[in-house]
Amino acid sequence: MRTTLLILLLASCATIPGAPPLSYETDAGLTYAHDAETAEHYGREATELTRRVGDLLGLEELTPFELRVLDTPLPRGNGAGTVNWYDADGLRTRYIQLGVEGRRESYRLIAHELVHWHVEHEWGLPLVIEEGLAELVSASFLPRGAELLDDRRMDALEALVRDEPILRNGRPLQIDRASWRQLSAQEKHVLYGYGFLLAEGIGIDGLRELATDEIEQRAASILGSIALPTPNTRPGP
Ligand SMILES: [Zn+2]
Repeated sequence: MRTTLLILLLASCATIPGAPPLSYETDAGLTYAHDAETAEHYGREATELTRRVGDLLGLEELTPFELRVLDTPLPRGNGAGTVNWYDADGLRTRYIQLGVEGRRESYRLIAHELVHWHVEHEWGLPLVIEEGLAELVSASFLPRGAELLDDRRMDALEALVRDEPILRNGRPLQIDRASWRQLSAQEKHVLYGYGFLLAEGIGIDGLRELATDEIEQRAASILGSIALPTPNTRPGP
C-alpha cells in the first residue's frame, strides 16, 4: 500500500514542474515538500487555516490551495512566502510558496498567503488594500496579533505624518503586482501598514461586498478623516 502510494506520488510529480517530490492532500488542498513529514505538518496547518480564513472572510466556496514548502529560501524580494505562478509549455499554475526561512512564522505567513489565494481574483481590491487585509486576517489568529496590529497602525500613521514619498507620489492604490516587486523593503513596510489601516477602516464585509470604485472612495474618506498635524488638514475655525 505504502509502495503504491509512493509510486503514485512519484508519478504525479513528473507532471508538476518545480514542485517538491512528496505531497500531502486534504479536502482543503495539496501540500508539497521534500519529505513526507514536512508535507503533512504544513498541510495540516494550511488546512486548519483555510477553515479559519474562510470563516473570517465569510467565503462560501474555497478553491483548494496548492502549497509548496521549500527547503531553500525564496528568491530575494519575495519575502518568506508568496503566491506564485509557473509558466512553461503554455501551463499556468498558481501555488503558494513557503521559503525555508518562513518556517518559524509559518502560521502567520500561510494565513497571509491564503487570503491572497482566495481573494485575489474574486474581490477586485487594490493590491495595497489586499495586503492590508492579509495582514489583518493573519494577525488576528496570533496570540500577540492585537499588539502586532497596533504597531502596524502606528507605523502607518507616522508614515502619513512624515509624508513618506511612497504615500505622496506613489499613488498607493494604483500599485500593481509588477511594481510592488520593485519596491524597497522600507516602502513595502509602510504600505503594509497603510493597507492595513484602510482594510480595517473599511471592514471585511465592505471589502467583500463593495465595488472597486466604492472601496477607493471609502479609502479616500478614511484618509481624509485622519487628523494629521499639518496646517492643511486642521479643521477651519
Ligand atoms: Zn501579501
